[in-house]
Amino acid sequence: MMYLILALALFLVLVLIAVHMSVSRRDEEAPASKPVLSGSGVYSIVRRSPRETVLKARPAAGEIRQYLASVNVDSTGKRLSAEDKERLVAAFAADTESSIAEVEAGDKENVEYYYYDCRWEDPVCEGAVARGHYVTREEIYRLPQLLPPFHLGCGCVVKRQHGSETPRKTIAMSMRPLLSETHEPPRLPDWRSVCRMP
Ligand SMILES: [Zn+2]
Repeated sequence: MMYLILALALFLVLVLIAVHMSVSRRDEEAPASKPVLSGSGVYSIVRRSPRETVLKARPAAGEIRQYLASVNVDSTGKRLSAEDKERLVAAFAADTESSIAEVEAGDKENVEYYYYDCRWEDPVCEGAVARGHYVTREEIYRLPQLLPPFHLGCGCVVKRQHGSETPRKTIAMSMRPLLSETHEPPRLPDWRSVCRMP
């Protein structure tokens, strides 16, 4: 009887050791799935509204008005009336809001790509940003300055590309990434550059 109890106890100990070993092995295997976890962590940061960072980096209406007080022509020499200047101030704030709203709406739909469109001929952005350029949501997160308007009277707008596929060249628009292969953004205009709005 004594031997039987001892054998049972030994058996139980062995079972416990076996269970413990299999659990700790599973713990060791866990790091293999880590990239997915940290990946999803980054994902949730990426989807945070760009509002705060974007607004912090841009001039407020008062600063723009003060600057425009001493500017009488735009970048191509077109005269700016008092009314033109007030429109530039209002458009800068409204277009910043539109860009933020577009990204916020895109985040609800898990949008990956945003493309640029141009509402009017904008000589200031020429050579830097054009119709059909696109950026990823991650790039916007990393570089909030990628959201238009880039300057006063900027004709550029950003639009969400539905679906997660890389934007393809269409007949209407020549799609290509805005950032270089080394992930460098082009030299973006200074906000003080002025393009008179049509
Ligand atoms: Zn522009």
